[in-house]
Amino acid sequence: MSKISRRDFVKLTGAALAAAGLGGHAAPADAAPKSAAVHSRGKAYLPKARGPRVVVVGGGTSGLTIAKYLKKENPKFDVVLVEKRAMYSSCFASNLWYAGVINLEFLAGHSFLDAARNGGYTFFSATCTGVDRSARKVHTDQGEIAYDYLVLAPGIDYDYERIGIKDPDTEYRLRTEHPAGWMMGDEHVSIKRKIENFKGGIFVQTVPGGNFRCKPAPYERTCMIAAYFKKHKIKGKVLVLDNNPDIAVKKAGFHAAFDELYKDYVEYVPSINITGVDADTKTIETEFDSYKFDEAAIYPGVRASKLIEVAGLVDAKSPQKEARIDVQKYHVPGDPRVYVTGDSRPMGFPKSAHLANSEGKYVAKVIAAHAAGKAMDWTSPASLCYSMVNAEPKEAISMWVSFNYDKQTNAFSPAKEGTGTDEKRDAIKGEATLDWAEALYGDMFG
Ligand SMILES: Cc1cc2nc3c(=O)[nH]c(=O)nc-3n(C[C@H](O)[C@H](O)[C@H](O)COP(=O)(O)OP(=O)(O)OC[C@H]3O[C@@H](n4cnc5c(N)ncnc54)[C@H](O)[C@@H]3O)c2cc1C
Repeated sequence: MSKISRRDFVKLTGAALAAAGLGGHAAPADAAPKSAAVHSRGKAYLPKARGPRVVVVGGGTSGLTIAKYLKKENPKFDVVLVEKRAMYSSCFASNLWYAGVINLEFLAGHSFLDAARNGGYTFFSATCTGVDRSARKVHTDQGEIAYDYLVLAPGIDYDYERIGIKDPDTEYRLRTEHPAGWMMGDEHVSIKRKIENFKGGIFVQTVPGGNFRCKPAPYERTCMIAAYFKKHKIKGKVLVLDNNPDIAVKKAGFHAAFDELYKDYVEYVPSINITGVDADTKTIETEFDSYKFDEAAIYPGVRASKLIEVAGLVDAKSPQKEARIDVQKYHVPGDPRVYVTGDSRPMGFPKSAHLANSEGKYVAKVIAAHAAGKAMDWTSPASLCYSMVNAEPKEAISMWVSFNYDKQTNAFSPAKEGTGTDEKRDAIKGEATLDWAEALYGDMFG
């Protein structure tokens, strides 16, 4: 394989992304000579591996947890975390920022570099463009990395087809003009500005069906936007267009907040099947009606990150294109060197940060056990989820869940003893929401 300089890699980045289908629509592999750059030529410029190399792709909740805990489980592992974002910003605290419950420092004041230094692993700023499992190599826009173990934790992508958007022009307009705010920090900044500049009228928040990322979050965001409108006496309403027949989780707590705190600021409409959006006239088309809006955060359907598809690991039976893995061990069937974790997993667990964090600690043990020639018994991941429903005073509701596994059906169900809700909003849970986020940051970056 011919060598290529690091500068050449930078030039090839655009072509590599296009070919990988990560920066837009995939080009056929042989369409143009440059598209071959999907397979990076030359090695990534990294310190020499000093032990079995574990490459973790994705520096979100799952990847940050796994990178740190792999080193704890086996200090001899040489762990490399590959992340494409230039800066960390959390998704899970973003709703609180809209109503001024937290500041920007709380949302984005953590560094990948500190996480890696504190955790004793290597941070590599690059975009993963493909995986060669037969050669045990990960391709990135900064060169290839050989692995002994590979963890793919790239999170989600949006699926606009689920709301009837089938052309790239409209999808691009929605992504930029009415971003969902369930992926990038940049989307959160855009939504914050929309809320602050809102002059009145209808602010639409849509809610998808399926197993979407953080089920309580669209309803929590509705409360935070309504709290802002109420505080600043903005003559505006959050119109919630929900694909589900009712609020998907913490139903009583959210309905109480909508009715008691935001009667004049929230209108909730269930069972909405969006069939298209006209970005010019700002109209949402549904099976029966159309809804005009002044501003909107349009949350389309959710699917696993496109990287899972690029790596050839999509479960053909998964409507959300999630990964094909052993649901107890998290590795690709027949390949205990390659794992998929976090919101790209196929199990019907909540797509939540708490779950990704607890699951990550278990997966680190599974990999360490495999490297030591041992096996690990399955332990259930858990999720504890607070939702802020009032900003002044800070009041929240909560839920928690863990799972039982049924060998016969190869399926999971909520464990009775580890599952419940506390839907009476209060200030104790309001404080606990912030403590929870601080603890999670501490666990990932400390
Ligand atoms: C508005 C909102 C509110 C939420 N509220 C809560 C909450 O209250 N409680 C809770 O528990 N959870 C909450 N969540 C959910 C939580 O943030 C996610 O479920 C969790 O972060 C999933 O972790 P992950 O690592 O799978 O994905 P992510 O955290 O999204 O991380 C994926 C990472 O992979 C990187 N990546 C992707 N592709 C590549 C590539 N090709 N190369 C390199 N890097 C790549 C991405 O840049 C990203 O950093 C909320 C989410 C949102 C958006």
